[in-house]
This record gives sequence, structure tokens and C-alpha cells, in this order.
Amino acid sequence: MKYVLIIGDGIADEPVAQLGGVTPLAAMSLPQIDRLAGGRLGLCQTVPAGVPAGSDTAILSIFGYDPRTCYTGRSALEAAGMGVMLKPGETSLRVNLCALEGESFDAAVIRSHNGGSIEGEEAVELMEDLVSDPRFAALAAAVGFGVHITPTFRHIGVIDAAHQPAAYPTFTEPHNILDSAIAGYMPKGVMGAELTALMRASFEILRDHPVNRRRIAEGKLPANCIWPWGPGSAMTLTPFDELYHKRGSAVSAVPLVWGIANLCGVDTPRVEGATAELDTNYEGKVEAVLAALAGGADFCCVHVEAPDECAHAGDVEGKCEALRRLDARVVGPLLDRLGEVDPEHRVLLLSDHPTLLNTRGHDGKAIPFAIYDSRCPGEPRKFDEAHAAATGDFLAEGPMLLRALFE
Ligand SMILES: [Zn+2]
Repeated sequence: MKYVLIIGDGIADEPVAQLGGVTPLAAMSLPQIDRLAGGRLGLCQTVPAGVPAGSDTAILSIFGYDPRTCYTGRSALEAAGMGVMLKPGETSLRVNLCALEGESFDAAVIRSHNGGSIEGEEAVELMEDLVSDPRFAALAAAVGFGVHITPTFRHIGVIDAAHQPAAYPTFTEPHNILDSAIAGYMPKGVMGAELTALMRASFEILRDHPVNRRRIAEGKLPANCIWPWGPGSAMTLTPFDELYHKRGSAVSAVPLVWGIANLCGVDTPRVEGATAELDTNYEGKVEAVLAALAGGADFCCVHVEAPDECAHAGDVEGKCEALRRLDARVVGPLLDRLGEVDPEHRVLLLSDHPTLLNTRGHDGKAIPFAIYDSRCPGEPRKFDEAHAAATGDFLAEGPMLLRALFE
């Protein structure tokens, strides 16, 4: 028996006026997804009450871990996803390269939380020059701060155990204050002044860097300041194979999912062209799932980020298109081809949490799920929030989902 978990990130939603007062799942014809709903169809409360709804807390819960007890911060998961396994006492920080505008740091306004979508060699060059600058290096050494550099705007900061702050500093998430003066949003509390000094130094070092001069000349935003946020500490998860006696694999384009997988001993095959956006390599993801299962995995998760991204952007048509592609280019091909790997297979499809087009934010309500079984597929039926609620099949917590898939 082979098992597949399909996470359509944020596919669940509320009724939307632009869709005639129904949800995107209800508005769209999604025949492949409806095939999955022929088995079991219901609702699950993936995010426990009182826990912030996010992909981090929801996917931990879906994998079988209680976010109320195991969750130590988003950056700890992202660090693990980038291969940075925190040691006890270390503090991780998400470090963005962002774009500030202004004559001085104190008077600056934040124009982009991702340095105008900087990526590749430019991002690496800026960060390498920053951390090797003696002014920055001296300030960083004084608080035991190091940076793991990636070819993106996302980097991982680690404060060593010897400098562990007595409490986390208070941070502002940079994507929440775009086009605001930054002066009121500096890190506060323990180590706040030292982290602010690092940000100030980064702006002074990066603002006139040749990479940024070139970006400005090309009409792009500069990536001229680091912005720490999202503190976390070492997280331990019971190994997946100990929990379920199954060998697992997870196909995704986002560090968060890789991090959860790395922490519980699940493989993370990488797919070229998997972008976490609407233009992702769906066919490559399907091939990676089939290859993982053919290669000995009992269970494979495939995560599709695009619906969530579109909902955060308030893009109704984009979210609908993401659902169409999930249906036709992931669910359909998997249902058609899983039999080649094992005629007996079960597939669980769900939304990790709802992401609402109306608010452009996550929501903590119960999500619809469907479980398909190749041995008794049942008649296709509509998969959406209302039909899932109408069955009365309700799972009170996320860890019940994989137990239901494996039963
Ligand atoms: Zn999510």
C-alpha cells in the first residue's frame, strides 16, 4: 500500500463576492479533486484553538505533532529547511534583505520586505560582503550573531548559546509595515539595541554597494538593509517512522516544509522549476512523488503553495487558476499513475488552513479533507467547505488525519 498526502496550501476560503457569494472551491469545476472526495469527506480542525494559523503550525499538526507543545518559532523550521540544525541554547532569526529609502537610517522608509525580489548571485554577493565588513563583523561578534546565506532574500541568523537572550526581543514583521517609516519598528527588549545597531550598519555598508547602484540604475529596488524577525529555538520532533512505521518523503518548494521534514526524518527530494508560485513545475512534482514511492517510500507528501500566495495577494482569478492547475496537473496525473507504482493506494487531500481572499490573511477554522482509496473509490462528489461540513465527519485535531490515512 502506498500513501499520498496532497496539501493545497490555503485552498479553503470563505464566500467571495466576486465569485457570486461562494468559495473558490465551490465556484470551480474540479473533477479530479471530486474523484478523491468519493471516499471519505469531512472537516478537520488542523490548527488548535489559541494557536496562530499558519502553514507552520498547521502542517506540523497534519504531520502528527501538536504545535502547542513542539512549536518553537517559524525561523527554527526554516533554518532546518536550509540544513541549519540548531543546537540547544541557540536562537534563530529570519533575516530578510529589504529595501529602505532615505538619506539616513533614522529617516528611512521601507519599500520592500524582499529587497525588490532580489535573488541569486546578487543576494549572495551583498550578504557575503556585509558579513565580512569589519564594522559589521565586530558588532555581530559582540552578540554572537552569525548568518547562513542563501541565494534569496531570506537568510537565517543564529545567535550562539553563549549570548542566548533571556527573552526574545520583540520584532516587527517587515511585510506588515511596507511604505512606513521604520523608526518606530526597531527590535525592542533584550538585545534590541544591539540588533538595531546591526541593521543600521548593514544599511550604511550596503546602500552604496556596486550591486545596489546597478539595481537602481536598472530601475530595481536596492537590497540595502537586513531585517531580523521570527525568533526560534531548537525543535525536536519524534521521527516520522517511529510515529507511523512508514518511510516518508515530502515534495515542496518552500523551506518551511523542508524544515518540518528534515526535523522528523522525512526525505525532501528537490524539483527543478518548483517555484512556490502559480508557474511552478507541477509535472516535475508529480514525477518526484512517483519516483519517491517507487524508490521505497511508503508515504509521500506533495505541497502546492500557489493558492495561498494568490489569496495573500487578493488575486481571485489567480487563486481559481491555482485550483484548476492543482486539479488537472497534480491530482489527475497522480490518480492516473499511482497504480503503476502500487495498485493499492490511498490519497489524502486537504487545505492546511483557510487563506481568505477577503482579508488576505490566514484563518483558523476547520479545513475540508478527502481520503481516496483505490480499492473502494466511491462515486465522485463535490469537494468544498459546505459539502465537507454536510457529511458530519469531523476530526477534532490535525494528528488524526494521517492516522485516518494509514488505517
Ligand atoms: Zn499554508
